[in-house]
Parts: sequence; C-alpha cells; structure tokens
Amino acid sequence: MSRLLILGLDGFGYDFAARLFASGRMPFLANRAAAGAFGPAASPLPPVSTAAWTTISTGAGIGRHGIVDFRRRELAEYAFVAPGRLVNSGDVRLPRLYDLASAAGLRVFVLNLPVTYPAAAVNGILVTGLLTPPGGDRACWPPEFRKYLAEYVFDLEDPIPSDLPGLCRRLEELAAGRLRVATEAFRRERFDLGLVVFTGPDRLFHRFYEEAYAAPEPASPAAAYLAALDRACEGVYEAFGADAALLVCSDHGFGPGPRRAFYVNRLLKRAGFLTSASAGGPYALHVVLEGFKKLLGRGRPLPVDWARTAAYGLPLYMRWGGLVVNASGEQRAGIVSSAEITSLRDDLAELLRGSAEAAPAAIQWAKTREELYSGPATTDLPHVVFEAGPEVVVSEAKGPGPVVGPYANPQKRGEHTPQALALAAGLGVVPEALAGAALEDVAATAAKWLGFGAPAAEGKPWI
Ligand SMILES: [Zn+2]
Repeated sequence: MSRLLILGLDGFGYDFAARLFASGRMPFLANRAAAGAFGPAASPLPPVSTAAWTTISTGAGIGRHGIVDFRRRELAEYAFVAPGRLVNSGDVRLPRLYDLASAAGLRVFVLNLPVTYPAAAVNGILVTGLLTPPGGDRACWPPEFRKYLAEYVFDLEDPIPSDLPGLCRRLEELAAGRLRVATEAFRRERFDLGLVVFTGPDRLFHRFYEEAYAAPEPASPAAAYLAALDRACEGVYEAFGADAALLVCSDHGFGPGPRRAFYVNRLLKRAGFLTSASAGGPYALHVVLEGFKKLLGRGRPLPVDWARTAAYGLPLYMRWGGLVVNASGEQRAGIVSSAEITSLRDDLAELLRGSAEAAPAAIQWAKTREELYSGPATTDLPHVVFEAGPEVVVSEAKGPGPVVGPYANPQKRGEHTPQALALAAGLGVVPEALAGAALEDVAATAAKWLGFGAPAAEGKPWI
C-alpha cells in the first residue's frame, strides 16, 4: 500500500534551498533531495501564500479554486478599498487532496495547511492553519482531537519579536509544537496521507531577508532555526513511517523587498480613465479624515467619481496588480457597455506597457484575465493583470503625486517571488520529470501515487 507524506515549507524558494542543501546545514532535506528529484516549481500568479497553498492542495489554478489573497474582494462593489472579509475553507471551490483521499477511503492527517478553517470533516485528522481565528472552535477534526492541542500554538502571536534571535526562538517553538502534535497522532495510527506545513520560514524571510535568506551566516540564529526546522522535518518523517514516499514543496520563494511604489490609479487618472470625486475639501484634509477613519477601523471610501471613471487599478499582491473596467452590469455604478469592454481592456494593457510615466515601474507584462486564468472564478478577477518589476509594490493611492515614487517598509525587507521548490523522494520521480514543474502538479502526483483520481486537477503528475 502506497503511503505519502507531504511537507510544506512556506517561503522556501528553490534558489535558497539549493544553497542551504549544498552547505550541509539541512542534512535531512539535502539527503532526500539527493536520493530523489529536486527542482524549481512555478507558483500561481500572484504568488500569495493562501493562493499557492490552495493550488498545491487542489491541483488547480486561481481561476478554478478562487483564492487570490487573504481577503475576498468584491469587485462589483468596488470593495478593493475596504478590507473585505478573510477567506476561509468554504471559499475554496474545489475539493482538496485530503477530501479526495478521504472519499477514496484513505486515512489522512493534515496539520497547519493555510485556508483550512473551519476544519472539514475528513477521514482522519485535520488541524487548521493560517487564517485560523484566535479561539476558533472549528480548528480541528474530529472535535475530540482538541485535547491534544492544549499546548499547541497555531501561529505567531503578538507581540512578534522584532529581534532576529527572539523571532528565531519563537519560530523554533512553533516548529517543535507541530512536530509534537504530528508525533502524537502518528504514534496512535498509521495514515495513508500526511500533509504538514511549516510557516516559520516565510515570517523570518519577510523581516530578515538579508540575514536569513540572502546570506545566512553559519553561526547566526537564522541558521540555527533552519537546522531545527530540518530536524523537525526529519522527526515528522520518522514518526509518519520512513517506508512512506516523501514530497516536499514550498509555495513561493523570496527576493528583496520593495523600494519603489507604482501608483497605478495616478496613471489612470492622468490618462483620463479615472476621475477623482470632490472630497468635500482640500485633498490634504481628506487624507487626514481618512487616517482617522482607518484608526477607527472603518473602510476607506474612494474619492472617485464613478460616473466619470472607466477603469480603476488595485494591488493584487506586492508587484502584481490588476485593472478593473467599470463595466455596466458588472460594477455597482458601471458606465462601460459590454461592447466596449474588450477594446478598453486592450487600451489599458497598452497604457501599462507603453507609458513613459509607468516606465520606472518596469512593467514586465500585462495580460487579460482570460489569458492568465481559466475556470469559473476567472470573472472574479480584474480584467487586466500585470506584473511590475522586482522591488516594486503596486499601490492603489489616487491622490496627487508621481506615478512611481520611493517606498520603504521595514516589515517588508523580503518579498515573494514566484519560484517555489519541489522535492520528491521514494516515488520514482526522475529529475527530468520536474522540468517545467508547477505547484498544480503536487496534488496530481500525490493522487496518482496514492491511487485515486484527482478530477479537477490541472497539474501533470511527475510519475
Ligand atoms: Zn507563503
């Protein structure tokens, strides 16, 4: 009987893993990589953790599973300016790998996978991950498993240490907690499919990109944490049963954080696509009032005159953004007729690519949503999606100012890149099979190995 353990390492780029494995500082993962196949895997775009882990667990892209970000944006209501509610497991439009395995009668164990709250009823055990609300009462299945979670910490809790040694200590404790819960479950039962995600690396690399990702010193707290993480992976694998095959993947990689902001709505405004509404006073006063409302936790109403606006822009995630046509029938106060959408959409993409004002944002590409995505959730996405250059963040601000300006955020010293990693050992995956790998392939490969079909999968199995 084939068994499979999938280990997830949030934010572990292929480039980073290759360096770390070669340095001998993560011997367990390095040995598994040497024994099997190891290579880069493409993240969905934008490479947001919630979207990418949902792609990993469903085998499908964003247009099919429908998770783009941490929050839902109701474009029809111009809700990109309001925070929107957090996404949850009910928003995922497709069954996950463990749902399919459960339906096939296999026993599953899932720990800390993002966007799993509220916990689904599975044939086995599920402990929810990222976006589990504090004190949430549906954080595990079956509910009786909660007795093993008394000491378990779901996520980094405030105050998050601002120093590297303090943060690494906390992340080490989190990893130890996941190992403890997994070991407890594996001591009582042999599972067919295990899926355990460690989210610590992502937290570390955002804040300490240089020290932990770009150039980790052998004697640094970051290196000690990464060694502990490697031991935790080994511990989970040994407890699961070393006769099992192993897949390791990440959701995205890391690169340097943003230094410039691209104010996409200022570009649209100058080109005549977007018109500001009178904010009832000078713009500076408006900004002050909005600041107060933000402090009070209310949304930020847009100073936009929708009756004279053909399109608006929004950030999707960091250097990925979108342009939405203010289409009648689609948007609450839409003015663009359906016959005009296509030509307007093409003009907007051309504006992004060809504008001298946008040039410093180094727009890499601008594509229609239909070019990038397929599936029923495609129409929830902006009409045009684009990628700005490295070290750029897309901003929705519409007030006066340059189209591209300087940006600094000490919490964002590292940012996501769309290059994740894939590692397969014990499944007979040959290294060449990973050429052109994408995160969609993980679920397809797992389903094939475990011997059940993955009907919705877009991914190609590596075996
Ligand atoms: Zn992530």
